[in-house]
Amino acid sequence: MADDEAIQATNDDASECKRYAVQLGYWCDPFISLFVKQTARKAPEINRGYYARVKGIELFIDKFLKLSGGKGQIINLGSGFDTLYWRLREAGNSPANFVELDFPSITAKKCYHIKKHKQLIDMLNTEDGEIRFSTTELHAANYHLVGTDLRHIAELNNKLTQAEVNFNLPTMFLAECVLVYVDASATSSLLKWLAGKFSNSLFVSYEQVNMKDKFGQVMLSNLRSRGCLLAGVEDCESLEAQQRRFTMNNWEGTNAWTMVEVYDSLPVMDRSRIEHIEMLDERELLTQLLQHYCIAVGWNGQTFKNLSIAQG
Ligand code: SAM
Repeated sequence: MADDEAIQATNDDASECKRYAVQLGYWCDPFISLFVKQTARKAPEINRGYYARVKGIELFIDKFLKLSGGKGQIINLGSGFDTLYWRLREAGNSPANFVELDFPSITAKKCYHIKKHKQLIDMLNTEDGEIRFSTTELHAANYHLVGTDLRHIAELNNKLTQAEVNFNLPTMFLAECVLVYVDASATSSLLKWLAGKFSNSLFVSYEQVNMKDKFGQVMLSNLRSRGCLLAGVEDCESLEAQQRRFTMNNWEGTNAWTMVEVYDSLPVMDRSRIEHIEMLDERELLTQLLQHYCIAVGWNGQTFKNLSIAQG
């Protein structure tokens, strides 16, 4: 499946961009360099865009952890080499259970890196000392890394059960730049199934948006990453379409913001700090980039109702 391979390669791009921005001091992540060795220079607007993406997602993680009182679970869909679990552990903030899902070829590489670094292994919460490994999977007390294809619901159900997911606990789903690679009908099936299974949940999705030019054409050329088809783009060209995707698939409520709004909502002191890291001659470049991405959320139940990008 050539297209699947191209999709899996997008994890390299995301991880390398994060590694580079961390190296320059945009945000702190002592773990990303354990998954990605080195990376080429990226443009300042890309680094700032990644900063907004990581901080925007963190905003919702913090809200979720507070509202679920440490008793919730996070399920990271298409997690790639995301280091969120270790960052939360380091901050003394981890949820009751943390599950990462991606194609087996990606989880195999992630398993390899985890096994290789004692620092990562030591931080897995293992009350009974047991960590179970296979080539593609890893199961510890409150961390599970599982290989699966998000388009196959029956398999996903089995994998979540193996990962000791409790369907009744408050649950946050994270899909950071993932659903765009899953076709519209598979995304609908996934969202519908999750809505039916998890009655007290929050779904946070970082996605491409506003992809139509003034002639109504979808601007795919600049977004085709390594030649792979961006399956979801045509269905989610606006914030309203992003929200509709939740409500049409049985999520009770939804909201969405462009990354321009997310960036502007970040604390002034933090923005001012990162804006001094590198010169950005044309600020317009950043605005244009941020306009094409968004964070969309959907919720079920009362706990996560009406969550917004407001700080605090
Ligand atoms: N979420 C990570 C991040 O932001 O750093 C990785 C983002 S990367 C752009 C997209 C990820 O989604 C890849 O790791 C890819 O393998 C995964 N993915 C895409 N479609 C998938 C599917 N059908 N099943 C499982 N994983 C999928």
